Amino acid sequence: MPVVLCLSGHDPSGGAGIQADIESVRAQGVHPATVVTALTVQDSRNVYAVEALPSQGVIQAAESLLADLPVRVIKLGMLGSAANATAIAALLARHATIPVVLDPVLHASGGAELSGQAVVDAMLQDLLPRTTVLTPNLKEARVLAKPAQGRDECARALLARAVRHVLITGGDEADEAEVVNSLHGAGGVKAWRWPRLPAQYHGSGCTLAASLAARLALGEALPQAAESAQQYTLDTLRRASRIGHGRHFPLRIEV
Ligand code: PLP
Repeated sequence: MPVVLCLSGHDPSGGAGIQADIESVRAQGVHPATVVTALTVQDSRNVYAVEALPSQGVIQAAESLLADLPVRVIKLGMLGSAANATAIAALLARHATIPVVLDPVLHASGGAELSGQAVVDAMLQDLLPRTTVLTPNLKEARVLAKPAQGRDECARALLARAVRHVLITGGDEADEAEVVNSLHGAGGVKAWRWPRLPAQYHGSGCTLAASLAARLALGEALPQAAESAQQYTLDTLRRASRIGHGRHFPLRIEV
């Protein structure tokens, strides 16, 4: 069974973060191996505190898994600190043949900041050149591609930083009638349009990036893996429920 190694933050509510990774990867028939990079205080409404875990332990845990398991893809979520981002970039350099999906978790959908400027700088400088597929929403793409604003302009700026592919998601662009997601790379652009569902969700970005990593681990090529992951994510949102007082949680079950 192929393995996706996930390095992500813990969301105790279970909607996003490493739990979203575990459920999404498992649901594709792939084994998730997980290293927690940060602890958070949060609920279905927002994030209230983030505490990064020490880089040394994160890297030791990841290296021991890489030495043991058939890791096909590495998926990065919230990293917690610039030190973690830089140490993880060095880890990726030591395992340069393994494809990397990077979900640049900058803000929670509730609005809280999850990565400060130092993390953004470390991502830009150290991680983007080692990334196979970057999965920002349009807002995150604008932060990373500053001063670019438009979707294509952001993608061009990110590709110029040696990212191989960028999947820009439009789920947060609430004024657009449909959700438009676009995959950009040297081979051109492919865009998908999906129905906009009425609710607000917590964990949709993690679900998309993790299921994409799993599809790649199964051997699906881009853009098919991107399409499968979008379809899976939409299905989890269609089944979502409002368990708490805030956003809906995707229901990530087997496909
Ligand atoms: N907490 C953690 C640990 C996350 O990784 C993420 C998103 O990736 C979030 C919270 C925020 O999720 P959302 O923006 O879907 O609310």
